Amino acid sequence: AKQLHGCSYAIFEADKDTDPATQITLEPELWSGLRQEQFVLYYQPRIDLRTGKIIGAEALMRWNHPERGLVQPDEFIPIAEKTGLIVPMGYWAIHQAGQDMLKFKEAGFRYGSIGVNLSFRQFKDDFLAKTIRRIIDKNQIDPHRLEFELTETALFSDEAHVQSCLKELSALGIDFSLDDFGTGYSSFSLLQKLPISTLKIDKSFVAGVNQNKDDEEIVRAIINLAHNLQKKVIAEGVENKAQLEFLIRHDCDQVQGYFFSPPVPIEDFMRMLRGN
Ligand code: C2E
Ligand code: CA
Ligand code: CA
Ligand code: CA
Repeated sequence: AKQLHGCSYAIFEADKDTDPATQITLEPELWSGLRQEQFVLYYQPRIDLRTGKIIGAEALMRWNHPERGLVQPDEFIPIAEKTGLIVPMGYWAIHQAGQDMLKFKEAGFRYGSIGVNLSFRQFKDDFLAKTIRRIIDKNQIDPHRLEFELTETALFSDEAHVQSCLKELSALGIDFSLDDFGTGYSSFSLLQKLPISTLKIDKSFVAGVNQNKDDEEIVRAIINLAHNLQKKVIAEGVENKAQLEFLIRHDCDQVQGYFFSPPVPIEDFMRMLRGN
């Protein structure tokens, strides 16, 4: 096990189905990027539709690469997942979000919570919950302000392990949301069994609002499902007023998308919170 940010973790053997050339060049680069603190978190505000105010944000990773410039997650997260590097990178993201939350607190900002993405791959770490607890302690993170976004894939990897991790962390006050909802395979019983407080409607369905009747039906069905299960519902990828109005009309709780703001550097997000 190696050490970083005071946490030890194991690196897993890389999957064999990635293009080996890409993997070979990117893996050491990702490692050195992590050690040299080239990663940054951008924040995309989430808006509460009842108040119209910012209720929180999703933290999204960017790679400030010395030669390539700002690299988007689609270019490095899949490789990080294949190689297992997403494990230390994921811990870094929680650590960094914790540091940033201290800044929000010092500034006296009003907001609800910050969502950090957790990859399915991170659940292969036996010490996931324990390590997260340690990061929370070290960074004085208020667990009630921390939320993890999971995908449906994560829930199916090792059900018992996932269930115990989620239970342990939610006992601390951490909330979980189910990301990209509708694109994977969630069973209703799992939705009930796990401490998941929020469903995030995948942006592919939101994109079809006012264009495609099926997508509209799916969006409405997810909102109703969430509310019937006593959960909150967020629509992601809201890009225009027509989509927003549809979501308000159908009682969606929160929205996130380019219509309000793209993910922005922390300074810009803090400027938004200042006027919140
Ligand atoms: P995601 O978790 O589904 O994040 C939402 C993505 O939608 C973000 O892409 C965001 O910039 C984008 N988005 C937001 N509003 C709009 C909109 O109105 N229209 C459209 N078309 N897109 C919008 P991003 O930042 O490029 O991240 C891509 C994916 O990379 C994320 O998808 C997530 O799966 C992964 N990712 C990013 N940061 C992290 C991280 O820290 N850890 C892990 N495990 N995954 C991450
Ligand atoms: Ca997400
Ligand atoms: Ca998503
Ligand atoms: Ca996604």
